[in-house]
Amino acid sequence: MSKRDYYEVLGVAKDASKDEIKKAYRKLARQYHPDVNKEPDATEKFKEIAEAYEVLSDDQKRASYDRFGHADPNQGGFGGFEGADFGGFGDIFDMFFGGGGSRRRDPNAPRQGADLQYTMTLDFKEAAFGKETDLEIPKEEECDTCHGSGAKPGTKPETCSHCNGSGQLNVEQNTPFGRIVNRRVCHYCNGTGKMIKDKCSTCGGSGKVKKRKKIHVKIPAGVDEGQQMRVSGQGEPGINGGPSGDLYVVFHVKPHEFFERDGDDIYCEMPITFVQAALGDEIEVPTLHGKVKLKVPAGTQTGTNFRLRGKGVPNVRGYGQGDQHIKIRVVTPTKLSNRQKELFRELAELTGDEAPAEHEDSFFAKVKRAFKG
Ligand SMILES: [Zn+2]
Ligand SMILES: [Zn+2]
Repeated sequence: MSKRDYYEVLGVAKDASKDEIKKAYRKLARQYHPDVNKEPDATEKFKEIAEAYEVLSDDQKRASYDRFGHADPNQGGFGGFEGADFGGFGDIFDMFFGGGGSRRRDPNAPRQGADLQYTMTLDFKEAAFGKETDLEIPKEEECDTCHGSGAKPGTKPETCSHCNGSGQLNVEQNTPFGRIVNRRVCHYCNGTGKMIKDKCSTCGGSGKVKKRKKIHVKIPAGVDEGQQMRVSGQGEPGINGGPSGDLYVVFHVKPHEFFERDGDDIYCEMPITFVQAALGDEIEVPTLHGKVKLKVPAGTQTGTNFRLRGKGVPNVRGYGQGDQHIKIRVVTPTKLSNRQKELFRELAELTGDEAPAEHEDSFFAKVKRAFKG
């Protein structure tokens, strides 16, 4: 079967604006939507319209189609449309059915409670070494008085007589395409399928009460920004006897003023003086694990990196520890005393314009060669 031209499918001109394409698509989609149009080829038509719209509404795909037509090798024949359930056309669906609600589960079936999320701010060290702490989270708990039924003790909720306990009502609607039977949430029982005559006075019939609950959590060493930890069964209580949801603790790690972290490794910059760089020295470097001595050899340049093995962050899964990387920055003195200036002048006379410890491939040697040109 040869494919029809997309512009022809939508009935628009080759130079149609985006707005015109959208309008044409909406009009045709309404006409051929398989839930409305029961003609045998409506589904095929609808697919054709959707495919044409997908291409023509996308600047890049439209340009490519204008150039290559259906032969465009990049488009791969739109396999994705085969057997599509139209789930992707949310706006069309909403247009017809007022926002879904037609596919609800049995309201009396046990359901898992909702998951909760809690963002916990940790400082840099807490994230590296972990900690134990109590979280106080506001959450809904089953009401103790009625044990979640919402009915006064000694009474029971009754089946809703309007929906016979299904939680849904069939509503007939007149639309431009004829009468449609639409399933709606039963507004007598709010979709629960139950009616409570004598409400529990503690929870007002909801079966739940809001409480602040303390939860003890153990945060493992090595957690990082954005990672989360699941605390099983600490979410909202289940419905109709279903299991509780889970609590997800999401970590936000405060930056450190001195250390930077990349995975399990720590990075920092260490300033050293001119003299330390030239003559070498043993310096003290702060690490997460306390101060560590580091030998800086004579002639150390700015940007030289040293690595302290095992002085990084413990791996969150227990695979050893990261390293600490130290980048040396040689600080050029700015405020010199007269005596210091004198010594530097003397040094300059001694070395001339020769950089000390010069190699053929040193930066100074290259600069000099460039000037000699
Ligand atoms: Zn209650
Ligand atoms: Zn009902």
